[in-house]
Amino acid sequence: MRYVEHVADLVGNTPLVRLNNVVPTGPDAPLVLAKVEYLNPGGSVKDRIAERMIDAAEASGELRPGGTIVEPTSGNTGIGLSIIAQQRGYHCIFVVPDKVSPAKRDTLRAYGAEVVVCPAAVAPEHPDSYYSVSDRLARETPGGWKPNQYANPANPASHVASTGPEIWEQTEGRITHFVAGVGTGGTISGTGHYLKDVSDGRVRIVGADPVGSVYSGGDGRPYLVEGVGEDFWPTTYDRGVPDEIIAVPDGDSFHMTRRLAREEALLVGGSCGMAVCAAAKVAEQAGPDDVVVVLLPDGGRGYLSTVFNDGWMASYGFLTPNNAEWTVGDVLRRKDGSMP
Ligand code: PMP
Repeated sequence: MRYVEHVADLVGNTPLVRLNNVVPTGPDAPLVLAKVEYLNPGGSVKDRIAERMIDAAEASGELRPGGTIVEPTSGNTGIGLSIIAQQRGYHCIFVVPDKVSPAKRDTLRAYGAEVVVCPAAVAPEHPDSYYSVSDRLARETPGGWKPNQYANPANPASHVASTGPEIWEQTEGRITHFVAGVGTGGTISGTGHYLKDVSDGRVRIVGADPVGSVYSGGDGRPYLVEGVGEDFWPTTYDRGVPDEIIAVPDGDSFHMTRRLAREEALLVGGSCGMAVCAAAKVAEQAGPDDVVVVLLPDGGRGYLSTVFNDGWMASYGFLTPNNAEWTVGDVLRRKDGSMP
């Protein structure tokens, strides 16, 4: 019989899938491969860091049997932590700002986590802010431990140990460019560090960042793509690793995300579209012997009411409003075969 003991045993070893339509093609174009992280059991790349952060805290004694994991997170990291916590008998409390959608809160609760909601509209140093509340809960809960993904060295280390070696082996050492979005910076720093080391500096590392974020020299101007970009410099980001950072406007990221679903059958999140915009730019400059790998952090189900919703897109000026819900009559009257 072939089975695993726990779903947590399925973290990592995600496949590479060739992109055929949304990047340059033809005899002079490079091979562009997507590392599809939504195929992790929790649906994102963050499953990798959750496992490694918990391993490290157990080894150092910061997290003891029956302990409680407290982290300010609204999404992917919380799901990853919940999965490993269940396997190993820990309790989870996630602190989220009130702007986080009910669906996201419910997802965390569905995994058995407790969710504490805090006002988003207060300064970080305010006692009700989600940073202050998570610090206090971690301190005052017996057996409490805060992973702090923005400062935890196990975050980039998980990519040195898993994402980097997987890509090197899957491409048989032929990768020439690695492209990834930058949030905590763990993915690009860890994977990039490994790939540079193993290739004697031959692999070029390219970051993708929303326009406005600090990594691409932005002034902190707000942007809409989730999970990437920052207004501060986390210690999990190693500035020495990327050779280049490409700034991508929100509209481009979202249109590319929708194209990935329609043209590559990859239903993925907005930061994936952003990374693929950067990968397409890299591919334009690359040659037919090059192999570009772009990491797609999560799936698209969490973005159906935003990126994939015409009304939401139109409200930000990314799309001309269109009637997405046609009636039977509309469809039958349409003689020219056009699509709604
Ligand atoms: N995309 C999404 C959807 C994410 O949740 C994250 C993690 N914040 C990233 C991209 C960026 O990954 P990293 O934190 O490793 O830079």
